[in-house]
Order: sequence, then C-alpha cells, then structure tokens
Amino acid sequence: MQSSTHTHYDLVVVGGGIAGSMAAVAAGREGLRVLLIEEEGYLGGSLTACGTGPMMTFHAGDKQVVRGLVDEMIQRLVQKGLSVGHIIDSTGYTYTVTPFDSEGMKRELELMCLEAGVQLLYHTSVVVAKVIDGRLGTITCLCAGNLFSVEGTYFIDASGDADLIAMAGIPFEQGRESDGKDQPLTMNFKLVDVDLSVIRNLMDSDVELFPFLAPKAGLQHQASRLSFSGFQQIMGEGIQKGEITFDRDIVLCFETNAKNEVIVNMTRVLDKNPVKPLELTEAELEGRRQVWELYGFLKTHIPGFEKARMTYSGPRIGVRSSRRLKGAYRITAQDLLNETIFEDAISACGYPIDIHSPDGAETDSTFLREGGYYTIPLRSLLNEQVPNVLAAGRNISCEFTAHASLRVSPSAGAIGQGAGAAVALAIQTNTDLLHLDLDALHATLRNAGAFVG
Ligand SMILES: Cc1cc2nc3c(=O)[nH]c(=O)nc-3n(C[C@H](O)[C@H](O)[C@H](O)COP(=O)(O)OP(=O)(O)OC[C@H]3O[C@@H](n4cnc5c(N)ncnc54)[C@H](O)[C@@H]3O)c2cc1C
Repeated sequence: MQSSTHTHYDLVVVGGGIAGSMAAVAAGREGLRVLLIEEEGYLGGSLTACGTGPMMTFHAGDKQVVRGLVDEMIQRLVQKGLSVGHIIDSTGYTYTVTPFDSEGMKRELELMCLEAGVQLLYHTSVVVAKVIDGRLGTITCLCAGNLFSVEGTYFIDASGDADLIAMAGIPFEQGRESDGKDQPLTMNFKLVDVDLSVIRNLMDSDVELFPFLAPKAGLQHQASRLSFSGFQQIMGEGIQKGEITFDRDIVLCFETNAKNEVIVNMTRVLDKNPVKPLELTEAELEGRRQVWELYGFLKTHIPGFEKARMTYSGPRIGVRSSRRLKGAYRITAQDLLNETIFEDAISACGYPIDIHSPDGAETDSTFLREGGYYTIPLRSLLNEQVPNVLAAGRNISCEFTAHASLRVSPSAGAIGQGAGAAVALAIQTNTDLLHLDLDALHATLRNAGAFVG
C-alpha cells in the first residue's frame, strides 16, 4: 500500500453531484476546512455525468421553494448566457424547468467551490470507511493506483448510491418495499439540429398528441425552450413492429440552453441493480443499445427529428434510485401529500411523486395540491449509529415513493446546502447534530438565501 496523503478536515464530502457540491460550498462559506472527493474529473454528478436535465422544479405554483445556493448557481449561469433560468414547463407536467449548459455547470460549480475555499479531490474513490467506537474518523481513498487515507470530523455521503454509508456499516434500504426493485436506469442522450418549430406547430394544431399539455394548451408559447412529452401512438406502433424493443410508451425530450439541442430521456433498463458491479455494466451496455435503436427511430418517425445528430450519450447511465439511509426520520409519501413543514426543515420541494415503474413502460404520478410543497427534515439525513456521518441528496432516509419526488436535482442541491450548514453549526457550537439549535440553523440557512418553509 502506498500512502501519499494523510490530512485532517472538518468536513469530508464524498460525491460532487449537485448535493455534494452545495454541501461543500455551504460549509466552506461558514469557514470550515472542507474536502470534496469525486470519482469523475468534474462536478455535477447526474446533471453533468449522465446528461440529465433540465433541473425541475424550483417552484410550487408561483412560489419559488428552492432558493439559496442552487438558485445562486443558476443565476450565475444566467448572467453568462449558460442558462435561460426558470421557465414554464411546456410538457405541462410540473411548474417550471431550468435548462442549462452542462459544460457551463461543470465550471460554475467548480468556481463556487474554489471561491468557498473547498479542497477538490478528483478521480478519487472512497474504498474503505472504518468505524471505531461509533465514529468514522478515517477513510481510505484510491486515485491512480495510490491508496491513501483522509481524516475528518464529519463526513457527508453525497455519493447518490450511499456508498460511504454502506461501507461504514450504517443501516440502509434499497428499492421498492415490496420487492427491493429500483426505478429503471436510463441512459440519456443529446441530439442537435432538431427542428423544434415543427413540434411547436404540432402543439398548436394537434395538442392531443401531448397528453399533459392538452389541458393547458397554449402554455408552450410562454416557454423560451421547449419540453415535450407525447407521440404515444407512434411509440406504440414502433413497439408493435419491433422497431422499439424495450418498454417505453412516450417520447420525452427537453430542449437545453442551446436552441434545437434536446435531451432524450427515454431509454429504460429494468431489473438491474445499480450497486452490483456486473449488473451496472450490463445496464450500461443495454442502455447504449437502446440509445442507438431510439436514435434511428426518432429520426425516421418523429417530425422535426429528420436531421438530428447525436453528440453525446451518458457518459454514465443514469441511476434514479438505489440505496437510501435508514435514518433518524424516514420521510413518507404521506408527509409529502400532507405538505408537512417539519420543525427541523432544511429545504423544500414541490415536485410530484414521479415513479418510473420498475416493471415496465408506465410512469405513475401523484400530484401534490396545486402550489403545494413539503419540507425535508434534518433528521432524515442523520443516523444514531454513526452520528458524524450524514446523507445528502438522493440517498436520504425515505420511503421508495417519497424518494420519487425528493430525488430531483433542485431538491437534492437544497438538501446538500442544509447538510453543509448543519455540520458548520455543529462545529461552531460544539453540539451534536441531533441537538442543534434549530432557530440558529434556520437563521444560517435563511441568511444564505435558502427557503425552509
Ligand atoms: C435518467 C435520469 C433523468 C433525470 N431527469 C431529471 C430531470 O430532468 N430533472 C431533475 O431535476 N432531475 C432529474 N433526475 C434526478 C437527478 O438528476 C438526481 O436525482 C440528482 O441530480 C441527484 O443528485 P445527487 O447529488 O444526490 O447525486 P448524484 O448526481 O448521483 O451525484 C453523486 C456523485 O457522487 C460521485 N460518487 C459516487 N460514489 C463515489 C465514491 N465512492 N467516491 C467518490 N465519488 C463518488 C459520483 O461520481 C457523482 O458525481 C434524473 C435522474 C436520472 C437518473
């Protein structure tokens, strides 16, 4: 074993997706010595490494319920022409979507971390987490064949898959309660040279092609970038003729910040466990096969796609759900539908419960009341077994159904900010996380622009 680094940090964040990045910036701005460890050579996680987007949604009706650092990041992109900001969702599914330039996001997240004094450590995986007497003090990392250790007072697991939590032996659960199955994996891809004026015209002349938009016809005219969900009949015929060989019933595309560039969010890889090594590789292979099948199908059958050109797939297959912490509080779907405002709320979300079925084509949606939102309690990030390790982002403690709402990227980012702020307060006041002064936590978050209900 080669040892090249051995350093102590106030906070070590594992995973530089939107949650980990926001956690690191929040803590860094509070003066903590922060290390952010990321397997890739850039930040953004699913948003930059899996081609997901747009971010949806920052709103609940007209009210913006995700603010703070994630919104600041978007406003910085807007100033640079790298995002059009929050615009009407022309699929009609939710309130707003936030298209962005993924290369711009990589850079902006990096800038925010560097300005906050965060030490970045790229191309590094955490491989061992040893808990002694109920505390995690040291983790072992791997980079370019070097194994080395890093010490921390607090650790945030923002790996999406709760890798650190699993390695530290902290209890977790995975998948649907009835059978442990996760939502399908999806390899997104990006097409340029799509003629979206053709789709806009169809929305005017034949809105029934777009089922979520139909009751809100005309919404598309308010959207400077187009999102659409439709063409079920064409997809059905494609499946019948064997041109589409996987379960998908609708065309779902989102225009990015660049006009006529779309993200295609349609492939469906079922029955692969994203935290089983060989199955993850099988999912990548199947995802890429589906991408090429769909690419040809869209060009042949969907109006406006004739000249489309694929510029990008993945790069990694997207994982919607995997391990979730079994924490001090487990958020339920009923909490969401009740629009619960927890006394230890750290963030809010107004996105529907959006379950891509683990079994096939369907998407099962349960909508909150129009304009309704719920909050995320700090306790759903915490656990009593190893109290100096927190979850943040899509791996917090919740039911499978609740996860299908709170996992979206604005929410994951806001949860990250809450985690970073909580650790900062715990260190500043020498208090354990389960007994923080909640007024002080809310004051810190509000001063940093966050919305906590
Ligand atoms: C196909 C698909 C489409 C989606 N579409 C949308 C959408 O349109 N809008 C929306 O808002 N949300 C969407 N989502 C959801 C959203 O993108 C994610 O849930 C959210 O971004 C999760 O953020 P996160 O930071 O919690 O985790 P992630 O984005 O998964 O980030 C985790 C990071 O941790 C790193 N990491 C993992 N393990 C380790 C380790 N051991 N050591 C070091 N680093 C590690 C990873 O490389 C990654 O960068 C979609 C998700 C998928 C899969």
